Amino acid sequence: MLAQLLHRNGIDSVIVENRSREYVIDRVRAGVLEQGTVDLLIAMGVGAGVQQSGLRHDGLYLSFQGQRHHINLTSLTGGRVITVYGQNEVVRDLIDARVATSRPLYFECEQVSVHDVEASPTIRFRHGGDDHEIACDFIAGCDGFHGICRPAIPESELTIYERTYPFAWLGILAEAAPSSTELVYTRHDRGFALFSMRSPRITRLYLQVPPDDSIDHWSDDAIWDEMLTRMRTDDGWQPAIGRIIQKSITPMRSFVAAPMQYRQLFLAGDAAHIVPPTGAKGLNLAASDVLVLARSLKSYYETGSRDHLDRYSDVCLRRVWKAQRFSWWMTSLLHRFPDELPFDHQRQLADLDYVTSSCAAMTSLAEQYVGLPQEVSHESVGL
Ligand SMILES: Cc1cc2nc3c(=O)[nH]c(=O)nc-3n(C[C@H](O)[C@H](O)[C@H](O)COP(=O)(O)OP(=O)(O)OC[C@H]3O[C@@H](n4cnc5c(N)ncnc54)[C@H](O)[C@@H]3O)c2cc1C
Repeated sequence: MLAQLLHRNGIDSVIVENRSREYVIDRVRAGVLEQGTVDLLIAMGVGAGVQQSGLRHDGLYLSFQGQRHHINLTSLTGGRVITVYGQNEVVRDLIDARVATSRPLYFECEQVSVHDVEASPTIRFRHGGDDHEIACDFIAGCDGFHGICRPAIPESELTIYERTYPFAWLGILAEAAPSSTELVYTRHDRGFALFSMRSPRITRLYLQVPPDDSIDHWSDDAIWDEMLTRMRTDDGWQPAIGRIIQKSITPMRSFVAAPMQYRQLFLAGDAAHIVPPTGAKGLNLAASDVLVLARSLKSYYETGSRDHLDRYSDVCLRRVWKAQRFSWWMTSLLHRFPDELPFDHQRQLADLDYVTSSCAAMTSLAEQYVGLPQEVSHESVGL
């Protein structure tokens, strides 16, 4: 996304990816796009896929004590929506757009390393049996939580803020038509569950499981039993069952590395921060980071001034911390904590009762779920 924004502003870039094209297109991850992310894709000229196949959602359900409660996102936010469109589809659309520009995009790079990030950065890697070295003005560390860019910043320059959660998410994709047109977040005495979808034929479901659980412990029958136990509501609603085509367990973590920059190296997305997926913010935060970074680089090349670049981290972190707070709050609202006291249990139910009955509380949830306003405008990157 950053490369496409830079391309539209006449700024050269090289993308260095260590996985194969097929791997990154098949990798199943996020699927909820904020209104601002969809607007950005469309403004960039990469919105045909999401406009054609994205599933527009005007609301969501919070389910507890056997009842589903509807929250109308659209009416509470003056017409804003979320769109369900797989992250892998977004990646596919962006790769197609990149290839169409004929600018460099390397897959299956090995031994990727970054050097001299203080003043004259270089990136070295092996590709197709050859050694490559790229000299550049800046490196954008968009290489995820386990990438190499964050560790290239001296430890003394970074402050790490972190919280791990005493549970993980077991996620499945199933060949089943979604039995609800909107997401259902369920708080159950046996733990959290989430009903979601990827397309009119594919259901995406999640279960809260212990943090050290292994997917090998879960037969497909056991997964469906647990899904139905947690999600079935008193009016008879439940997810439709189908063949499970993908299943995995993901740990839950809140993480921020600050500042998100060091001299000529700028971190964006999961390289700088991780949120628990309950608020559906991970992909959307990565998109808003690169919008700010593109604006900052454009300003630098147009004016020679580093003003915007120097403020990159501060601008991003304002949004990141609000998304961190929202994701932590949604997680706390809906999960069972192993050390939960009877007091906490009652407080959680009161919280759910409040957020599903107070217009003010529902509005607060809705405006954060559809996405707070972007820190910088699309116009600032010439869109
Ligand atoms: C299993 C899983 C499920 C998720 N589910 C959800 C969800 O339901 N909702 C949600 O909002 N978010 C979810 N997320 C989070 C969301 O996917 C991320 O926030 C988002 O992918 C961040 O984008 P990114 O570009 O910063 O990082 P990534 O998407 O991780 O991209 C980083 C890229 O860098 C590449 N890379 C890594 N190291 C190197 C290297 N040394 N050299 C070259 N390339 C490298 C990687 O292969 C990868 O393609 C999930 C994440 C995971 C891992």
